[in-house]
Amino acid sequence: MKSLLTTHQLEARYGDFQALFGIDMHIQEGDAVALIGSNGAGKSTLMKSLCGLISVAPDSVLLDGQPIGGLPSHEIVRRGIAMVPEGRKLFRSLSVEENLRIGAFAQRKGPWTLERVFALFPILKEKRALPGTSLSGGQQQMVAIGRALMSNPKLLLCDEISLGLSPAVIQDIYAALPSIRAEGLSVVIVEQDIDTAVRSAKHVYCLMHGRVSLHGASDAVSKQQISAAYFGLE
Ligand code: ATP
Repeated sequence: MKSLLTTHQLEARYGDFQALFGIDMHIQEGDAVALIGSNGAGKSTLMKSLCGLISVAPDSVLLDGQPIGGLPSHEIVRRGIAMVPEGRKLFRSLSVEENLRIGAFAQRKGPWTLERVFALFPILKEKRALPGTSLSGGQQQMVAIGRALMSNPKLLLCDEISLGLSPAVIQDIYAALPSIRAEGLSVVIVEQDIDTAVRSAKHVYCLMHGRVSLHGASDAVSKQQISAAYFGLE
């Protein structure tokens, strides 16, 4: 499989505070990667570093072999990385449909159109004219995912998509992932629930205190290895 995104010794800082140290990550085309780790491990910081919300060294992030570290986020979307942010962050004054259409600003060509998103999440078609923020939490998450897909990304970054949702709704959202990946997209999922993350991914990266504490194929890492890497237990 072809390499899509790599990070080389990626470091990220908030002022004097260093949040990420020497992160080497490899994502292949069509890959599904789970990024796990306890609170404050650096998962969101890594996602933000990949999509331009935090400035990092140019050569520390390569997309299709091209340095993209530190580019503005609109340029990174244009090159093919879209983020589903933690907390969904829909535009309050806009309808469901308008929220989705905003995702298409990058005008990248690809399979994802409004109709394709409505086919993936039919409830959004029914509610297309309603304010996005009037929907249930799970439906708002579908809008956030649909909005990211509308930019026709090569790589979709999903930050805590199940936060605050019921198990049944989480199942509905995760059920959409195979259709999304069937379009050839690579996906990175940040998830608190380790079992859900590992089950839905081909590869797992675990962070601890800003460093990669474990990585491997999800069917090759044991629960004990994950516990050790996640909690620092031996
Ligand atoms: P969570 O699961 O709680 O979201 P996380 O693994 O995503 O945790 P990050 O949010 O990336 O972790 O935080 C990594 C470290 O960076 C933590 O020590 C956190 O306190 C710190 N941090 C995060 N955002 C900022 C910020 N804006 N300014 C300063 N420090 C920050």
